[in-house]
Amino acid sequence: MIIVGSSIGGLAAAMRLSTCGINVQIFEKQSYPGGKIRTKNSAAGLIDSDPTVLIMHEIFEELFRTYGEHIEDHLELVPKEILARHWWRDGSSLDLFPSFEKNMVSIIDFSGVRSAKEFEKFNSLSKKLFSLFNEPIIKSPKPKVLPILINGIKNGKALYETLLRQRILYEFLEDNFSDPRLIQLFARYATYVGDSPFMSPSILSLIWNVESKGVWRIKGDMHQMPKSMERIAQKTGAVFNYGQSVDKILIEDKKVKGIKLENGEEIFADIVLFNGDPRALTMGLLGNQVKKILLKRNHSLVCSLLMCGVLRLNQLTTNWFITMSSSILTTKRSFKISMRESSLQIQFCMFAPKAIIRIQRQVPLPLVASK
Ligand SMILES: Cc1cc2nc3c(=O)[nH]c(=O)nc-3n(C[C@H](O)[C@H](O)[C@H](O)COP(=O)(O)OP(=O)(O)OC[C@H]3O[C@@H](n4cnc5c(N)ncnc54)[C@H](O)[C@@H]3O)c2cc1C
Repeated sequence: MIIVGSSIGGLAAAMRLSTCGINVQIFEKQSYPGGKIRTKNSAAGLIDSDPTVLIMHEIFEELFRTYGEHIEDHLELVPKEILARHWWRDGSSLDLFPSFEKNMVSIIDFSGVRSAKEFEKFNSLSKKLFSLFNEPIIKSPKPKVLPILINGIKNGKALYETLLRQRILYEFLEDNFSDPRLIQLFARYATYVGDSPFMSPSILSLIWNVESKGVWRIKGDMHQMPKSMERIAQKTGAVFNYGQSVDKILIEDKKVKGIKLENGEEIFADIVLFNGDPRALTMGLLGNQVKKILLKRNHSLVCSLLMCGVLRLNQLTTNWFITMSSSILTTKRSFKISMRESSLQIQFCMFAPKAIIRIQRQVPLPLVASK
């Protein structure tokens, strides 16, 4: 079996499949494992690029446990005291914590008792939604309908509120929060899946529940995670080939027969698992035969990032600094432009071991083919 891409998804697959006795070969065009999880050098020292914190760390703990390994023997996970610090132009700011009680206090200080009560309701709905979808959908390779139906009957109100009555995330939040800043804050979770809160379903409000359980830094840098996973997969027999770009997925009689590397070499396999951008397949970047087989879909470019290190920051306890645009109208306009007219939303980010500062700018852009 061949896996294309030695990123977090490819590595998890390599670990699982090689332990089942499958002969796994991984081909990765970069010279290192991890994909988006990478570390870059800067004048301020090493900086994490793209992911800076780990969420749902229990998934990794479970993955390591499956192979008789303990994550703490490989990595030191450091829980963050503050989930994120949010700033508005009027000078107001709100810290959110991995603690319901602390968040209530924080929101009362920020916006008053009414907002805290609204948050309490939203928090409980988000929790119910997550528990409803976690096992049967998020963790399951194929959606399991029966547990959803059973759980759905138990949590009928939560389902009705989000999925049936309000289907768009932004409208759902408008109905739940009276302070526009809180609507703006929780609407931001749509961007985690590259979407706009004005177009995405209200089910995405469950992301708050995931994040509210905490975010973790990896001592050293985030790249320690893929390196550890690679070591475990190698122990179970997986073979990694770096600096090898896959040019084509070879197809014969509508069945996969292997891959062709950029250097022309052909390698044959019964199964090819492509863990790169699915859009590359539908655009024909891995050959026209695969493109023909797959459904054509339109995808948008959601954001581009400029990463810089910051030399010195005082006593910061959060990794995420999020600057909100000045008004809901600006937010709405920017999402509408970026999603409907394919403009490029540039986030200028300054990443340091302990900080991210984001300033958003909107730039019109023609449809582009890059990731
Ligand atoms: C700006 C940003 C911030 C994020 N922050 C967080 C965060 O704080 N916490 C968090 O949990 N998640 C975060 N994420 C999400 C997380 O980074 C991704 O979900 C995850 O890394 C995606 O992993 P993946 O396995 O899907 O593939 P990717 O990381 O996209 O990697 C795909 C791999 O396939 C390889 N590849 C592709 N095509 C070929 C080919 N033809 N031949 C050979 N190799 C190929 C690529 O080189 C790459 O290594 C963030 C994402 C972004 C963009």
